[in-house]
Amino acid sequence: MQKKNKKPLREGKAKILYPGPKRGTIIQYFKDDLTAFNNQKREQLLGKGALNNRISACLFEYLHEIGIRTHFLKCLNMREQLIREVEIIPIEVLVRNIAAGTLAKKLGLKRGMPLPRAIVEYCLKNDELGDPIISAEHIFAFSWATPDELDEIAETALRINDFLSGLFTGLGLRLVDLKLEFGHCEEEDGSVSLLLADEISPDTCRLWDRETGEARDKDRFRQEMGEVKAGYEDVARRLGVLNETSISQNF
Ligand code: 5GP
Repeated sequence: MQKKNKKPLREGKAKILYPGPKRGTIIQYFKDDLTAFNNQKREQLLGKGALNNRISACLFEYLHEIGIRTHFLKCLNMREQLIREVEIIPIEVLVRNIAAGTLAKKLGLKRGMPLPRAIVEYCLKNDELGDPIISAEHIFAFSWATPDELDEIAETALRINDFLSGLFTGLGLRLVDLKLEFGHCEEEDGSVSLLLADEISPDTCRLWDRETGEARDKDRFRQEMGEVKAGYEDVARRLGVLNETSISQNF
């Protein structure tokens, strides 16, 4: 694997970033670690990294096809992607279609209730503070993004949600909610553009089977539902990328 002789630039809960082969590139390595509740619950799930690598690559490629600009360049192997270097905006952008998770809890909504329209929420990316929900006012006051950037982020997040909702509907899955991250990237001409970054996978979305309502995402781990890997494999199978991950047990 390419990462072996390299010193990490940064290690997160689910991924490690290594310097890429060229200036402005990074290698994103997907770990097998599963974490929940801000790292209080942790486990290793053999093959999860390879599954998320392929699922996320597949979804980012679909997004490229509809003109969404992302950091993804190509898959290098089972666990690694070549990505563009971006400066991550420290905001988690959540888009919700159905009440679940913290929204259902906070507002006392019945889990599974369709929302009147897709709702965008912002959380500060800060594990120590538990990723608190923040408003646009906080974002502007602390200069985490300008009003124009936040408009572009919200518009892009809703477009991604619309497109992926349709894609997953066709695969018999309901996109309940998802978390997105964006970053700034310096172009060759010196201009700065906004790119979708991080990953989109069962670690970062809620996906329910349309017939049974069963979760196919990290809630299986968070809520001790069992068969966590089978859930991720089901998403990969429906996207047609499961075979590409079948030798993942060797990594
Ligand atoms: P909730 O706020 O209900 O816990 O999460 C909403 C959606 O965003 C879920 O799909 C959840 O997986 C995702 N999400 C929220 N925060 C995080 C985070 O810190 N890490 C990851 N991987 N996903 C998150």
